[in-house]
Amino acid sequence: MFIDDKVLSYYLSDKKGVYFFPDEFACQMKSGVFENEYYRKKYELLKDNGVFDKKEILLEGVYSGSILKRSLANTIAIDFELTENCNMDCEYCVFGDFYEQIPNRKNKSLNLNYAINLIDYSFDLFNDSDQNFSLGKPIYIGFYGGEPLLEFNKMVEIINYAESKNLKYNHLRYSMTTNGTLIHKHIDYLVEHEFKLSISLDGNKNHNYLRKYKNNKECYDDVYNNINLIKTKYPDYFKEHVSFNIVLHSKNPVEEVEKFFLENFDKQPKFSSLNLDRINKNNEIQFKKILPEPEVKIRIKECYDFLKNFSERIKPNYADFFDGDEENFIPTGTCIPFSRRIFLTADGKILPCEKIDHKYYLGKITDNDVIFDFEGISNKLNKVLTNIKKSCYNCSNLWHCEECIFSFDKNAEKLICSKFTTKSNIKEYYKTIIETIIENNTILSNLINDYYEI
Ligand code: SF4
Ligand code: SF4
Repeated sequence: MFIDDKVLSYYLSDKKGVYFFPDEFACQMKSGVFENEYYRKKYELLKDNGVFDKKEILLEGVYSGSILKRSLANTIAIDFELTENCNMDCEYCVFGDFYEQIPNRKNKSLNLNYAINLIDYSFDLFNDSDQNFSLGKPIYIGFYGGEPLLEFNKMVEIINYAESKNLKYNHLRYSMTTNGTLIHKHIDYLVEHEFKLSISLDGNKNHNYLRKYKNNKECYDDVYNNINLIKTKYPDYFKEHVSFNIVLHSKNPVEEVEKFFLENFDKQPKFSSLNLDRINKNNEIQFKKILPEPEVKIRIKECYDFLKNFSERIKPNYADFFDGDEENFIPTGTCIPFSRRIFLTADGKILPCEKIDHKYYLGKITDNDVIFDFEGISNKLNKVLTNIKKSCYNCSNLWHCEECIFSFDKNAEKLICSKFTTKSNIKEYYKTIIETIIENNTILSNLINDYYEI
């Protein structure tokens, strides 16, 4: 597919790869009439090496129990939702008034036995050389909430237990997503264990107005002071291990936020979007007021996804080197569950990541047992794939799809994908992405850090 810019033409090859051609060369290739012998020879060379080959895509790939088990044995991270409780009450929180309430979500804390059971179960798989081929790779133990630092002591117990176990082929590292308000109490421990710390902050004081304590008091000054505490006391750690996560809304434009983080902390923040699922109809009008302008610049993550999809060389994890079937794709952009992470909720449900609705849990932990029915899980997922496949065959986003099947409404009679894309839409989209990547020279280096680290 050719995408034309003012100066260059880009060719997105089915063989995976983005090629940049001078306009003149691209015009001659498109017309098939070569006035320039050099261009003709170059075209022949590219053609002979299959750059322009069209690839027929078969979406007949399926999940199987053995693939799921192996992806768990090679996972990148085990994440624990330490508690549902939080000391803050951000207006856009997915558990707040803008969203339909989740039944039974009542400030539960993770039962330590559940964490221990999951560690025992997964470490056995990590130590099984028939299943684990990610030798020498770190496995991250991650902590989420609510606010995970409210359960600091439990976190230490989990880490002590994990460290007491023998890992034959891997080593442990740690990560945490925090609202930043309690860091001053625990920073020495976090630094000592080299935690990868992701702090949620939406920009400067004005940008941050939706993030508040339970008593409605603003949290900005506390978080800002805590960040400066890390920066001053542990500058190397701050540089290497601290990142920022920003939720985009109507009052924090991307450029202003980027400028704030660059000037204050010399960091490029990561952006995420407001969740648009489960909106409470009674508060929909108010919710729409905090949505960002639709023309919000393409997010960096989308550039990462684009580069990842167009490169044979970038793989998020080792399992992807072996499980990709070039002829038979698994439709949609869903990961192989557990290949990226295993997420244990505070009430013992096992999910393939922290982003999906807890009702789609794939396994369960009790006081005595870990329940993973790998065959059952793959059968359920394959049913959804069969249902959506027809749309995917006609979709121009097919090759580079990032849609996750857990975001579809599985109760609907016929699954509808809101991201179905026509050819002209995809061309415009890729053009904007390519322009963003060219303007922003940190994207490639960040991509390498992100994908090789976690
Ligand atoms: S959102 Fe879907 S595709 Fe992405 S990591 Fe989670 S389960 Fe996998
Ligand atoms: S965007 Fe939707 S319809 Fe298109 S390939 Fe992805 S899942 Fe299928």
